[in-house]
Amino acid sequence: MINLTNLKQFKAHSESPSPNFSKRSAKAKGIRWIIIHATADAGNERGSLDWMRQSGTNVSAHLMIKRSGQVVRLVRDSLNAWHAGESSWEDVKESVNSHTLGWEFSNRNDGRETYTFAQYAAAAHLAAFYLRQENPENPRKNLRKFFLGHSHVSPGRKVDPNRTWDWDRFNRWTGYLLDEKGRMTEVEQRIVDEWK
Ligand SMILES: [Zn+2]
Repeated sequence: MINLTNLKQFKAHSESPSPNFSKRSAKAKGIRWIIIHATADAGNERGSLDWMRQSGTNVSAHLMIKRSGQVVRLVRDSLNAWHAGESSWEDVKESVNSHTLGWEFSNRNDGRETYTFAQYAAAAHLAAFYLRQENPENPRKNLRKFFLGHSHVSPGRKVDPNRTWDWDRFNRWTGYLLDEKGRMTEVEQRIVDEWK
């Protein structure tokens, strides 16, 4: 868990504030998990961003990661973005929103469109940034527990980020940034190193 009092926010490439948030529940002491989503945007990134910024849709995320790898911030990490809806995990029986960050990756969520290398490179940099806060002594320790798909916390209701999200690649590329060398090809290393 990252304590809310110590939480440092990733600096996105751009900011597009959404009104769809609330305060985190008083019960929430920190960030326990980060939830990976697909926008299900039918190829229209701008449309999905507008939707999350429109008052009354009641949906948002902390970050949106475009196919280009550009990261857009919609909601501050200290606040409760409305990304997971009805959901539960471990001892959290109501929505997980108050205890999580939500990242929306631009993708059709049709089970066919693959995520781009730039999106995995962005995801790895984002993940490493937060894991270093979650466990400064051993940031790799909870890599496989700290990140969940929306489908994990809302089974039967949500399928994103879908079967095309490659958890193994995400774990390896994040691990590489956290000094887990030797599992990456030179090409993969270059893609991650060159992401900005
Ligand atoms: Zn989702």
